[in-house]
Amino acid sequence: MLCWLLAACAAPVVEPAPSPNPSPVPTETPQATASATPLPTPTSIPVSALCPPLAGHSFQALLGYISQEFRAPPSSSDWDGGHHGLDFAYYQRNDPGGQGGHIDGAALQSALDGYVAGLGYASIYGYYLIVETPWAQLPPDLAALFEVAQGQSLYLLYAHLQNEASFVMREPLDCGQGLGQVGASGDAYFVVEPHLHFEIRVGTSGIALGPMTYYTAEASQAEQDEYRRWRNSPDFVLHDPLPFFEHGAQHGG
Ligand SMILES: [Zn+2]
Repeated sequence: MLCWLLAACAAPVVEPAPSPNPSPVPTETPQATASATPLPTPTSIPVSALCPPLAGHSFQALLGYISQEFRAPPSSSDWDGGHHGLDFAYYQRNDPGGQGGHIDGAALQSALDGYVAGLGYASIYGYYLIVETPWAQLPPDLAALFEVAQGQSLYLLYAHLQNEASFVMREPLDCGQGLGQVGASGDAYFVVEPHLHFEIRVGTSGIALGPMTYYTAEASQAEQDEYRRWRNSPDFVLHDPLPFFEHGAQHGG
């Protein structure tokens, strides 16, 4: 009987034919919930966790793999100088003799929830992937650390992947989701050993970067423009990524 009732309830409602003398429609008990039920928040996207970008390695361990530190561009004329990110390689780990082993092939994972905001191949980056995390998804202390305001996003770049990133633009990614493997892709002038090059920039939310490259004769004007947009334009503010890793280590990661 109960099943029959449920089936009856689930059946499509047949509109009664208009009648000059409508019979009373049996109604359910009126419930005063229409105005009391809170509306679901349309932007209730959960705040992201924080994941070390190398799977199976803690943030604390990663602090020991830094093989090249961040250096800001020395001047506006030398806008592409310095070192815009942090490099990570095992071979530097307590081990100037190089016995720490290459990081080659280590599994990369997304450090935050976010969206693919750029991917491709650039002479200076090799195969790269840029993941955007909007302000609302950032852990609040991380947003404060990098001065990300509402309407802005944190953009993380992973460079020198072994292979072309197998994503599409705007594809959502989860913290800890596999991104590929550490490699040594890129122009040999910029890359001599396999390592992860990791950059952090803050920019307006929703920027989708087109293919970018620069230091090659084949670079189109559009690719050069996108490169300069990423590396040196008001659209993005460059940050030293070190506090990101120190923050992760301090929070037990
Ligand atoms: Zn680097």
